[in-house]
Amino acid sequence: ESLPATRQVETICPYCGVGCGVRLGVRQERIVRVEGVRENPVSRGELCVKGRFGLDFVHSPERLATPLVRKENIGRLAKPPDPRQAFREAGWEEALELTANALQGLIHEYGSDCLGVLSSAKCTNEDNYVTQKFARAVLKTNNVDHCARLCHASTVTAALAAFGDGAMSNSISDFEKADVILVIGSNTTECHPVIGRRIKRAVQEKGAKLLVADPRAVELSDQAELFLNHLPGTDVALLNGLMNRIVELKLHNRRFIARRCENYEAFAESLAGYTPEVTEATTGVPAEKIQRAARILGKAKRLVVAYGMGITQHVTGTDNVKAVANLLMLTGNMGRLGCGFAPLRGQNNVQGACDMGALPNVYPGYQRVDNPEVKAKFELAWGAILSDRPGLTLTEMIKAAHTGSLKGLYIVGENPMLSEADLNHAQEAMARLGFIAVQDIFLTETAALADVVFPSACFAEKEGSFTNTERRIQKVNRALNPPGQAREDWRILSDLAALLGRPFAFANSAEIMDEIASLTPIYGGISHDRLGLRGLQWPCWNRRHKGSAMLHKGRFTRGRGRFHVVHDRPPAELPSAEYPLLLTTGRILEHWHTGSMTHRSRVLETLAPESRIEINPQDAAELGVTEGDTLSIKSRRGQVRSKARTSRRVRPGQTFMAFHWQDAPANSLTNPSVDPVANIPEYKVASVKAVLD
Ligand code: SF4
Repeated sequence: ESLPATRQVETICPYCGVGCGVRLGVRQERIVRVEGVRENPVSRGELCVKGRFGLDFVHSPERLATPLVRKENIGRLAKPPDPRQAFREAGWEEALELTANALQGLIHEYGSDCLGVLSSAKCTNEDNYVTQKFARAVLKTNNVDHCARLCHASTVTAALAAFGDGAMSNSISDFEKADVILVIGSNTTECHPVIGRRIKRAVQEKGAKLLVADPRAVELSDQAELFLNHLPGTDVALLNGLMNRIVELKLHNRRFIARRCENYEAFAESLAGYTPEVTEATTGVPAEKIQRAARILGKAKRLVVAYGMGITQHVTGTDNVKAVANLLMLTGNMGRLGCGFAPLRGQNNVQGACDMGALPNVYPGYQRVDNPEVKAKFELAWGAILSDRPGLTLTEMIKAAHTGSLKGLYIVGENPMLSEADLNHAQEAMARLGFIAVQDIFLTETAALADVVFPSACFAEKEGSFTNTERRIQKVNRALNPPGQAREDWRILSDLAALLGRPFAFANSAEIMDEIASLTPIYGGISHDRLGLRGLQWPCWNRRHKGSAMLHKGRFTRGRGRFHVVHDRPPAELPSAEYPLLLTTGRILEHWHTGSMTHRSRVLETLAPESRIEINPQDAAELGVTEGDTLSIKSRRGQVRSKARTSRRVRPGQTFMAFHWQDAPANSLTNPSVDPVANIPEYKVASVKAVLD
């Protein structure tokens, strides 16, 4: 039993994009109690197991507290028993100077575009703003990206094309106002638990009809009126099949389409081949279920479509999202309460990192780097000549590192060495780089490859803001001092910018937000003093504006909503005689992404201490496998070992693994083939074989 807290600080959970408010009870520089903040409009006092019991990583003895510099005689791929043995401790001055000299040397020899910068969806908006400013104004490259490339890049490209904004159209509270909710490709109760509960309540208490479409049975499919268990990689076929029926039954919203949309005729014609029978043959969903689902969707008065990475992480990710957008426009469910487009953003600040321009083609607020007026505006504000050439995406940077055209990477709080598809290839690529610097709170798998590692402050040790999945900018408040010499991420970058001859003039993170507001119209009215416990949703145009709970009311951001013609295309890899099983990857409730925080949380690690591969009992019987046996799983790219969990959640021929474990890295198996528009890899479909170890 811990002693009572002596002070309390309200801030925001550092895990998922729901953005729940947490009240940290602090005593003598330790968090001794965590509870939900009732005043927070998103979570209303609720937290999931990660938010409530998973914050003790803050006090882990493994936190980085001093800069580290790689020992000269230890190469990147050497794997000492303790990764710290590859490094020696250094002072800030030495580590910063070493980094500045290395970056300058590479620029001098190969030009600015030989460098890449990875920003972080775990860092604040202010950190992200400074990171992309560092890349653009100091290093002079647009090679800046972050992990949205691996989760919702396809949402941004498709929703910008369809609606003019790449974000959730409505608010989380709209789930409770909907009469029909379609959840497709999202294990919401595990990955966005507080939204998952909200959906369950909408069904149980408000009578909303729930449709779930997923290749794997998830908790919400038990609550669903209809569960459409389609085959992995057949989302476009399923959605087109549903829309074919909606049009045939004349349940489409002709008035909405005529008044607010464009390109309908070409789109409607493109649905002709997606009859229920053809759709059944492609997706595995019975034609009769498709008919019933189409009727429910077509008759909905207020429909929300929520989706996650089951939609986005495919070579057809952009087309999948366009099909979701088509469905919402076809049924007229945009721009009203209780309706809308709900991409569930993964990490706590992935929306904010995108908003802040941690992307290779846009400045903050999605202002294009190749627009001369925009470029001139930022050049004037930053006092620097900027590049108008869109930069490399994260996936392109890894390829460029492999071919040798990228020479150095500066990484802020990201861990691609567990999150990249085809890890062995990514690791080879990283080993070829001339210089790597990493800022992080732990010596992650990626930091272990670096030449210099800077210790940074975690969420509880910094001031700033996060933007959640419903575009709500929420205030992050400092409860603790960072350990040892650790510094806030934006301060580390500012120190480096000064050494490189381009100092930033920020005294604190509030001043950074003021600069963001002055250059980013959708954040124009945001300042720290306005955020309070409720935050503000963008667009928030000026200091008198109260923010926007809904986008596209009356008019889409791009003017008319645009229907897109999209057709079913197969995944890049399908099961074969040699690799007969199909692997999908994802997350589980107790862990978070590459696990750098959750594996250092006592409760979470106790609840889920090791990796499991889900396998259907029929396949298990054929392989002679029983629950808990260790399997060796191989794909064309790599091999991992994991214990078996027999489960009917996956159909025969299909398996599932979470990617949280360093000793069973699912991404050693995944396919790096990417969506041609969004450059997002196909994490959801890879062919593998499994044998008893
Ligand atoms: Fe944190 Fe997400 Fe859980 Fe809320 S739902 S407590 S934001 S992990």
